[in-house]
Amino acid sequence: MKKLSACITAIAAATAMLAPVTSVQAQQKFMTIGTGGVTGVYYAAGGSICRLVNKDRAKHGFRCTVESTGGSVANINTIKAGDLDFGVAQSDWNYHGYKGTKAFESSGPFTDLRSVFSIHPEPFTVLARADANIKTFADLKGKRVNVGNPGSGTRASMDELLAAQGMKLSDFGLASELKADEHGAALCDNKIDAFFYGVGHPSANIQDPVTTCGAKLVSITGPAVDKLVAANSYYAKANIPGGLYKGNDAPTPTYGVLATFVTSAKASDDMVYTLVKAVFENFDDFKKLHPAFANLNPENMVKDGLSAPLHNGAAKYYKEKGWIK
Ligand code: GLU
Repeated sequence: MKKLSACITAIAAATAMLAPVTSVQAQQKFMTIGTGGVTGVYYAAGGSICRLVNKDRAKHGFRCTVESTGGSVANINTIKAGDLDFGVAQSDWNYHGYKGTKAFESSGPFTDLRSVFSIHPEPFTVLARADANIKTFADLKGKRVNVGNPGSGTRASMDELLAAQGMKLSDFGLASELKADEHGAALCDNKIDAFFYGVGHPSANIQDPVTTCGAKLVSITGPAVDKLVAANSYYAKANIPGGLYKGNDAPTPTYGVLATFVTSAKASDDMVYTLVKAVFENFDDFKKLHPAFANLNPENMVKDGLSAPLHNGAAKYYKEKGWIK
């Protein structure tokens, strides 16, 4: 009997020692972030955010992972389906996703869509072969143009721009829908004359074709763009700075959106609070993780470009910081 009770005591002691480990294991929680192509800035943004979250995994129990996806529209749809916790989405598709308009007309309003913060600006970008003689957006008529993959914000915003310009996809000699990870090689291999892309700068998949085959940035300006920007709060005039890409020394005037970070109202306050805390308490590190983040500041990130309401977990942290009321 004595032996048995000693044994039970030993088991109890061992169990007590194991208890903290077991409870941490039981608490292991996951968060997933949908991004874009692996050579774009969304993928870098998601990776940077996860890196900061995972740094404190032992404290909060969340393991953050990043997925490469089709981009903005795909991310919002996948969050709605419950298969991603977070995603990056252009501010125009943040707006239309919540309302169920334009690219989201068939799926209807996603009233549970929630904003977390905005990130870097994404000027709409046309990059053309140096020999293609493309100086303006109108010069794309008859040319072979990559308009972005289905599910990307790029592709959906191209539809808006074409409509504003009174143009159709059939005005292009060819309208290809390659992923951004493929458009640079297609340009330098002379399979396309130009591509359209909504992205932060500098982006690796712009840098590559500029360096490899001397590709040139093309401005996107004119009355149709002026009208688009005046009519839609999620658009703004933008410049791609001169000298950012080799051989493109003058600034390139265009217009664009902001990248926004979104989730669902169904995401727990704990998860969203943990993520925003990781980003903003390590903000100097975050800004250093990609050159497109260099000019970010928290006060703007918690309000600019956010059409869908703030998630409660994010709002809680911003109130603590005094960034919102
Ligand atoms: N804005 C792009 C899109 O939604 C993605 C850009 C990126 O991957 O950095 O299609």
